[in-house]
Amino acid sequence: MKIYDIAFVGMGASALGTYKLKYHNQDISIIGIDREFNNSRNNFFAFWMTDWMTPFKDIVKNQWSTWEFYHQHQKITHESVGSPYCVIRYQDWKKFCLKESYNISIKVNNANKIQKIDDFFEITLDNEEKVYCKKIYDSRSVNVENDGFKQHFIGNIITVEDGHKIKNARLMDFRVKQDQGLHFIYLLPLDNNRLLVESTVFSKFLLDPSWYQNQISTYIDKNLDIKKYEVIDSEQGVLPMFEINSQNKDNYVQIGTKGGATKISSGYAFSFFLKQLTSKDKDYHSYWDKWMDKIFVNYLENNDNSDEIFMNMFKRLNGEEFSSFMMGHAKFIIKLKIIFSMPKIGFIKSYLGAILN
Ligand SMILES: Cc1cc2nc3c(=O)[nH]c(=O)nc-3n(C[C@H](O)[C@H](O)[C@H](O)COP(=O)(O)OP(=O)(O)OC[C@H]3O[C@@H](n4cnc5c(N)ncnc54)[C@H](O)[C@@H]3O)c2cc1C
Repeated sequence: MKIYDIAFVGMGASALGTYKLKYHNQDISIIGIDREFNNSRNNFFAFWMTDWMTPFKDIVKNQWSTWEFYHQHQKITHESVGSPYCVIRYQDWKKFCLKESYNISIKVNNANKIQKIDDFFEITLDNEEKVYCKKIYDSRSVNVENDGFKQHFIGNIITVEDGHKIKNARLMDFRVKQDQGLHFIYLLPLDNNRLLVESTVFSKFLLDPSWYQNQISTYIDKNLDIKKYEVIDSEQGVLPMFEINSQNKDNYVQIGTKGGATKISSGYAFSFFLKQLTSKDKDYHSYWDKWMDKIFVNYLENNDNSDEIFMNMFKRLNGEEFSSFMMGHAKFIIKLKIIFSMPKIGFIKSYLGAILN
């Protein structure tokens, strides 16, 4: 019976990163298990450049030093040359992590059951095969389809026949329907002809895919005035806006979204699991960031005017300050600025709501 040193159950973004940064070509045996391993997924992972993300700068696909927010007749622009907004694509990440590796083998299966036997684990696959290992990194998908508050989105990459003139990233454009929860368009100009246009909602309930698609096409028509385009690819996601506490025990470690890497106020997770892998930090997020996020999400969940709250916060911060908060390394004074940008009574109610939950 072969007992692997390490098994990755789920071989997505965080498992790939953990393999690359901790175990690449070390003298140990590793197995990765994922039924979707060979799928064509190629979503974008966005983050602001920081010192811990610079080792990955060669695989950054696009970067923008200016980003914008829109609300009715208001536009706020942030700029940061030192910490530009960057994206890495999934397939580039996968290639980077697995390049020239000889100590990992892959099983294209689902893992149905994990059982501890003495000092090793038994993993039962969907074909009843058993795999044995000494240590497990588990990143199997988290169930966010229940009625918890979540971020849900569909995005299309479009090619614009006559080109477009958009230069900056649009992180939130609230000039769209607001009747299904807090809704905004996220837009990234990828080159002179291609755009990523995403319809994102913060709410408890998922919508029919046709709803997001209608929002995207209406926005392209009305707000971008683009008439001729072709959809060449798409991505979709459902991300938790509630705290996920990892349940690590002995040699069983939960990572990625399952391990609590998601910053619940934004849905960003990619840079956080890389930060944890490259630093001595045990947690993905600091105590105070988690505290602020919980209050903020509680506010979003219980109030209708959150688009204005977001705009108020964006207005008070410059690009450097905003990116430092989003990446979890903001100074205390910046956190205070954010707290003071929130309505006082709403903030107190959300504080009480968050601590009582
Ligand atoms: C479309 C999309 C866009 C995103 N954009 C960003 C972004 O811009 N910036 C950012 O910071 N974060 C982003 N995120 C959030 C987060 O970074 C990603 O979800 C990231 O992929 C999380 O990594 P993970 O390893 O936890 O999960 P995944 O990458 O989803 O990997 C989990 C893997 O487990 C496999 N699996 C599930 N169940 C089983 C099972 N029973 N047996 C075996 N394998 C199983 C799945 O097939 C999958 O490959 C995005 C998420 C999505 C979905």
